[in-house]
Amino acid sequence: MVVRNLIFWLSTKRSVTNSIARRGMKLGFARRFVAGETLAEALAASRELCQQGRNVSLNHLGENVSTEAAAREVCASYIEMIEEMHAKNLAGNISIKLTQLGLDLSKDLCTSLADSIARRARNLGRTIEMDMEGSAYTDATLDIFEAVQRESGNTGLAIQAYLHRTEKDLQRLAPLKPKIRLVKGAYREPKKIALQGKAAVDANYKRLTTLLLEGAAQGIFLPAIASHDPFMVAHAQLEVARLKLPKDRYEFQMIYGIRRDLQQEVHAAGHTLQVYVPFGTDWCPYFMRRLSERPANCWFVLRSLLAESNQQAPRQRIA
Ligand SMILES: Cc1cc2nc3c(=O)[nH]c(=O)nc-3n(C[C@H](O)[C@H](O)[C@H](O)COP(=O)(O)OP(=O)(O)OC[C@H]3O[C@@H](n4cnc5c(N)ncnc54)[C@H](O)[C@@H]3O)c2cc1C
Repeated sequence: MVVRNLIFWLSTKRSVTNSIARRGMKLGFARRFVAGETLAEALAASRELCQQGRNVSLNHLGENVSTEAAAREVCASYIEMIEEMHAKNLAGNISIKLTQLGLDLSKDLCTSLADSIARRARNLGRTIEMDMEGSAYTDATLDIFEAVQRESGNTGLAIQAYLHRTEKDLQRLAPLKPKIRLVKGAYREPKKIALQGKAAVDANYKRLTTLLLEGAAQGIFLPAIASHDPFMVAHAQLEVARLKLPKDRYEFQMIYGIRRDLQQEVHAAGHTLQVYVPFGTDWCPYFMRRLSERPANCWFVLRSLLAESNQQAPRQRIA
């Protein structure tokens, strides 16, 4: 837990993330979780996944922009992403982060940018999904999601099982018949608002999975079970069988590069699997959150760094 918290804390420090970012792509260790720095690289990785029968959700990495011009630029890049996916006939959608669309600057600006992305996607017959960020943004994200979904009807939302409020939020969202991506939650949140410890979060995740899948059987939700935890996946599979849910009423989601063995199993069992494919130059905070989820991942980073220093040793002697 101490290591997790330390890595998570480091992920919020720009000087640390910048120094890792200078090396990560060059050395290749970031490529395990990040499809590349450019849209072209992300589309190439997506094509491969789609050829294997997966859907993808493209995410342009970055969070918390500080100018309106930057927010508009991100908006244009999201629209380009969905158009390129469409042109290349790739199955899936895009995932957007609202703080990348100016949520810190103005809720109205953010709503109108998110709305324009959803409208462009709808015109192409596509969907979008909204990520859920730290708890400071939960209320605003729900409000913006509701506004956009009412207008376009093609938007999904990530909901975090560790928050005490989540069941109430689902009741609030039910009339919109939304796609809900159920995640455990990736941020560090205080006891007052979030469950602490894996056992408590897992128990709530299972309970909410059942609630969402039962809702799917009644035509209320389109649940996406987004977890790499084999116990969460097994629970969802049992509930899908119990409820005799048709394949188009639910899906599983996992992140690019994580538990590829489980991804293969879920796909082979005949379920729809959507892979979240992040790309972009601002990949470091995201990458470090993935490390903090599983400190064992630090080993392959260390191995890459050691390999580099071994390769550099002879060159340094020559110089
Ligand atoms: C598609 C998708 C979208 C997401 N979107 C959001 C979002 O919008 N907002 C948000 O707060 N969170 C999001 N998350 C992250 C989520 O909240 C969790 O932090 C993350 O999925 C880890 O939880 P877990 O359910 O996989 O289970 P855990 O209990 O964390 O892990 C279970 C097992 O999964 C494997 N595993 C988990 N993480 C890793 C890793 N990094 N590297 C290697 N193995 C790993 C390990 O085998 C581990 O034992 C998303 C997750 C997914 C899958």
